[in-house]
Amino acid sequence: MVADASVGASHSAQRPVIAMRNVVKQYRMGDTEVHALRGISFEIAQGDFVAIMGTSGSGKSTLMNIVGCLDVPTRGHYWLDGVDVRTLDDDDLARIRNRKIGFVFQSFNLLPRMSAIANVELPLTYAGVHPRQRRARAAVALQSVGLGQRMHHVPSEMSGGQQQRAAVARAIVTNPALILADEPTGNLDTESSIDVMSVFAALHSQGRTVVLITHEDDIAAYAQRIVKLRDGQIVDDHRRDASGARRTHVAHAEAGQGAFQ
Ligand code: ADP
Ligand code: MG
Repeated sequence: MVADASVGASHSAQRPVIAMRNVVKQYRMGDTEVHALRGISFEIAQGDFVAIMGTSGSGKSTLMNIVGCLDVPTRGHYWLDGVDVRTLDDDDLARIRNRKIGFVFQSFNLLPRMSAIANVELPLTYAGVHPRQRRARAAVALQSVGLGQRMHHVPSEMSGGQQQRAAVARAIVTNPALILADEPTGNLDTESSIDVMSVFAALHSQGRTVVLITHEDDIAAYAQRIVKLRDGQIVDDHRRDASGARRTHVAHAEAGQGAFQ
């Protein structure tokens, strides 16, 4: 078992996929300011599997929107795969989303009239990949989530768990630096949830970086690291060993020390 210090050292040795320093997000509601995030500083290393937890209103979606480049911080720094997102305009942000992030949503968001393979091909179409390559890569992604036999079915011909696995295939087909899932099992029964979580676990064991939001302990238990939010701040951050028996606290860099400075 490694001590806290060596865990930190081994993870700071490689460039983090996500690094935040003092990220603040405020929303204006008429005359009042809503402090959704109150100074978030943390890093996520390549290949990690992280669950972000917290009660409703704790800032999970706000944090995920910033991580996913759907929104930008009011203050503070965010580097995605080494790129400072403050330097990007809207077009750059759209491009970086397409290239670096695979999104999985609670509601699957598959296009209903399209077959699974056509849905999975879509991000490759946006990325300008040649049609023949698109089909081949989409087929590989679907096989890797166990849907090789369902490629030509439309979403209504698939179970919820199968639809979410197709959505995961769509998320990984561009080979993104990060898979970002917001309550991916929120609409699934227990059996389908286990099914989908095993796919995330397999992706993690292949070296993919996975970040998921959940408020369910048994879903978070699949992750190696659990970050807890309360009132827009990180109140707990720990990692489990393989057996789940031991937990080590994850230290955060002091405010102001940037990962890329
Ligand atoms: P969670 O996803 O954990 O439920 P959110 O990130 O959605 O939390 O919200 C955090 C806080 O920010 C809440 O107080 C919420 O009401 C507020 N908030 C979120 N989005 C907006 C918005 N677009 N405008 C104003 N307030 C918002
Ligand atoms: Mg939310």
